[in-house]
Amino acid sequence: MRKLIIAANWKMNKGPAEARAFLDEFLGAANGLTDLCDIAIAAPFVTLPAVAEKLSGSAVSLSAENTSQFESGAYTGEVSVGMLKEIGAEFVILGHSERRSIYGETDEVINAKMKAVLAGGLRPIFCIGETLAEREDGRLEDVLRTQVSGGLADISAEDLLKSVVAYEPVWAIGTGVTASPAQAQEAHVFVRSVISDLYGAEVAEQVRIQYGGSVKGANAAELMGQEDIDGALVGGASLEAASFLELIQNSVT
Ligand code: PEP
Repeated sequence: MRKLIIAANWKMNKGPAEARAFLDEFLGAANGLTDLCDIAIAAPFVTLPAVAEKLSGSAVSLSAENTSQFESGAYTGEVSVGMLKEIGAEFVILGHSERRSIYGETDEVINAKMKAVLAGGLRPIFCIGETLAEREDGRLEDVLRTQVSGGLADISAEDLLKSVVAYEPVWAIGTGVTASPAQAQEAHVFVRSVISDLYGAEVAEQVRIQYGGSVKGANAAELMGQEDIDGALVGGASLEAASFLELIQNSVT
């Protein structure tokens, strides 16, 4: 039985003060839900220490939104896995479509980051997903297969099981358009089958695959009710404590 994992991706929103105010409103109720699902908050780098302080003693996990693949040195503007570990991060989002499309991150770069995160003892939230043009051209499966096999190259089964995969169709991210539960389930089954080809059925059955793309309180229950959907990666609806709590509550009931 795979435990649901619901993660907020705040993107480039919320400095430390705003994050503290959110958590003051959010944590009481969220702590009461962590038996039913894992919860993580991914915040911008400068906000992470404030979030870490608020989360201490809570079962809600801290996540970064990105990391460098390098350990240290002349990489101006970058943040290493060791630094994230030092401030208490457990997860790191990798390969988000915004990192792929705006910052040109390739499957090779994402794979190097996966290895760095896992070697540092943190856990990747590994994002994949097709654009609308790729889906309409009938290339959905090719794109997902390439992203999964490229991002996971030389990652052991043991390390894969510490990771979470997030299927996020690019056309559904931040657009208000959600994949239908059937479309999402179908893509998750396919992703699990690719993982099965790479690691075997037993491993594939255990890997948690989140859905991301305009998840909100109103559609969470139906999406999370799909057999192969094991949680959500949430942008817009995670920015207000009340809407994120509603989404989590609807996911677990
Ligand atoms: C995301 O940023 O990963 C995401 C899914 O955003 P939204 O929920 O706003 O579509």
